[in-house]
Amino acid sequence: MTSIAYMPYLSPGTTLHSAAVINSRMYEHRTKASTRQSIYGRSQKGATGDIFGSGIGKVTKRLFDPSDDFRRILEQHTLFGIYSRTMPPVLAGRLASQLEAGDRSHFRKAFRGHRQRRIPRLATLHLRSCSRCIEEDLDHLGFTTWRVIHLIPSIAHCPHHGLTLLDEGEPRTATQDTWRLCLPGEQPTKRTSVGAARLPMSDGYASYLNLWQDVFSGNLTGIAPHPWMLVMDAVIRHFGSIGHASAELSKSIRRLWGVSLEEIASALEIPDGGLFMQAEVEQRVQASYVASRLIVVTALDELRMSPPRREQGPHCTPLDLSEPTPFGSWLSPATQAELREHTMDANFPPALFRELAKDVSRYEIDANVHIDRIMIEKYVESLPDELLEVMFKEQSWSRSSWLAKELRRRENEWSQNRSLTCRTC
Ligand SMILES: [Zn+2]
Repeated sequence: MTSIAYMPYLSPGTTLHSAAVINSRMYEHRTKASTRQSIYGRSQKGATGDIFGSGIGKVTKRLFDPSDDFRRILEQHTLFGIYSRTMPPVLAGRLASQLEAGDRSHFRKAFRGHRQRRIPRLATLHLRSCSRCIEEDLDHLGFTTWRVIHLIPSIAHCPHHGLTLLDEGEPRTATQDTWRLCLPGEQPTKRTSVGAARLPMSDGYASYLNLWQDVFSGNLTGIAPHPWMLVMDAVIRHFGSIGHASAELSKSIRRLWGVSLEEIASALEIPDGGLFMQAEVEQRVQASYVASRLIVVTALDELRMSPPRREQGPHCTPLDLSEPTPFGSWLSPATQAELREHTMDANFPPALFRELAKDVSRYEIDANVHIDRIMIEKYVESLPDELLEVMFKEQSWSRSSWLAKELRRRENEWSQNRSLTCRTC
């Protein structure tokens, strides 16, 4: 096993890929494979693993202080620092442990939720750089570094300087899932090709860029699933109805961004297209869709209804939040709370637990909130027996309801298992 004798300080926000390049420079004889071996403890391809933080347990031991908290390294040096902020804490914790162990296959799964086929792209195919960041690095460090935040696919400009980002070198492809061991400014560049480059520079887009920094620093706490649910509840209360709230927020976005919601959605690859605002207010968007959530925040800040932040800036007027609103006509508060907790921890949006409190079938839920019925089926199979039994007792359910059907399935399974055990005993 190789160990790293010396590494320059990696400031927060620098990618681990920078560390790999710097390391290979310090030991010139090293091949790409042995460089990877020395940092990640494995030589195989998969350079994107480092942008998601796969194998962070070994990386922490080799690149940082071995006693350092790998979760901090994940948050400061990988895209986990972005995407984990909108995940339910349970899911973020599980994903962090999987990444520590070197398994990055769960990163996309953590996004799956109810939109099986429409996962937004999580990282750019090209490495990207900003010429002002390069100058600052050279002044302060003497060498250039890659920034995690530049690899977010739904921005086209540096959030620190506002300059158009430049695509560097060759993009990753499916067959060659790796970036060259180069630092910013060392490869041929061209203007970034992402859709966000089509959007005009506007107040809305500028605050959206700033919000990505707030997400990465952990400041914008209000976009995590639970507080975001309370934010949307408060917005609906303020405007009186879902329709009115959606119309007012859409108006604010058009004013701030200077283009239609359809154009924004298409440029930023937002699922739901121009209807994303409606979907957010109806609370049926999975929390991990960060870009659409941040567009909504630009409108909320402008309307002086800011979601919670760790530190509120002078431009923010925080929204007054209340306890979660009751749902389900007959379910007791304790049952509601348990159903809500289970559903949100499984990374489903609030619209699902509200539907599950109704006497409806999976097909009806699918039609009402656009959550795939197969995913609903799998999810309800994971709910505890006790919760389903209490729900069954507290209100009335028809034979075709999702709950009656799931209870019948459990009964059948139970009696089959029982007859199998009897045959063997
Ligand atoms: Zn910059």
